[in-house]
Amino acid sequence: MQKLVAAIALALLSQPVLAQEAPPKWSIAIHGGAGTLDPDKMTPERRAEYEAALQVALDAGARVLAEGGSAMDAIKAAIIPMEDSPLFNAGKGAVFTWDGTNELDSSIMDGRDRSAGAVAGVKTVRNPILLADTVRTQSEHVMLMGAGAEAFAAEKGFAVTPPEYFATPARAEALERMKADKLSALDVDHKFGTVGAVALDMEGNLAAGTSTGGMTGKRWGRVGDAPVIGAGTYADNRACAVSATGWGEYFLRVGVAHEICARLRMDKEWLETLAAGVNPHPVWNAMKSQAVADRVMADVKSLGGDGGVILVTPEGDAIFSFNTTGMYRGRATSGGVNEVAIFGGEDKGSSTPDH
Ligand code: ASP
Repeated sequence: MQKLVAAIALALLSQPVLAQEAPPKWSIAIHGGAGTLDPDKMTPERRAEYEAALQVALDAGARVLAEGGSAMDAIKAAIIPMEDSPLFNAGKGAVFTWDGTNELDSSIMDGRDRSAGAVAGVKTVRNPILLADTVRTQSEHVMLMGAGAEAFAAEKGFAVTPPEYFATPARAEALERMKADKLSALDVDHKFGTVGAVALDMEGNLAAGTSTGGMTGKRWGRVGDAPVIGAGTYADNRACAVSATGWGEYFLRVGVAHEICARLRMDKEWLETLAAGVNPHPVWNAMKSQAVADRVMADVKSLGGDGGVILVTPEGDAIFSFNTTGMYRGRATSGGVNEVAIFGGEDKGSSTPDH
């Protein structure tokens, strides 16, 4: 009997020790633009309208991830309802150019292989994020613009959406006010209203996408950061996925989205190098990722720019950083966080899916 017990114990001990595997995580963050939002001018009805629209987008993306779908599918699922909503400056509800047209910019990036697609200045594509993705998957290019992008869309079977579809009275009025009072885009358009989403799926892949009408009264084919890979959008499985919103010229000059990803990657590499053999092994955490995003946004501010970013990391942290009074935003994680917020300091849930 004793021999049998000893044999069983020996057999058990000689089994390879299986590490307790953490359940796969997912995480998503969305934005609907950042800007100088005034809490006193936000009526409860208006707030409820924006919160409901953000919630629809967040839930659409979160559902894809919770069901095991890809980060790429999740960000498209989140961005499409915001492009379709007249509340945001993307798709329907896009701001007007100086000439009274609506010209749309969008970009998307897959962190798995860093494949990317972007379109600028399109006028007849209902969901520019889908055209950007088609550039990524069905062309040899990264960025197409204007009439060429529309010819490509036609070739790929996109329906031609009449330009009137994008126009809304509120955005038309903003252009008129700008012209009448000789204001700048920032004076009339205190909230920018671009939309974006970033996600981590259960396979550990990251993705980012952004869509916008740009800035009110833009002229001469002006293009901002949103469709520029590295400025408004970036995703790299080794680092993070970022989507930006704000005064595009400054985001272009800083190369915000790539700058955040590059700093995160390098800081983590440094940590690994410096901590080799150190016990207990220091770990990367949400606070460190937040600090990196905040530093880059401080850099934007030091040049005179404002706006914000959303990011998701390989650890699943869903992070916001903005230097404006508000940013329409939301985040959801496999840990049970699900929240939307507008003004600074309104976030309640933890940024990490482990809590
Ligand atoms: N970044 C966008 C642009 O400059 C505007 C925005 O974020 O609302 O075109």
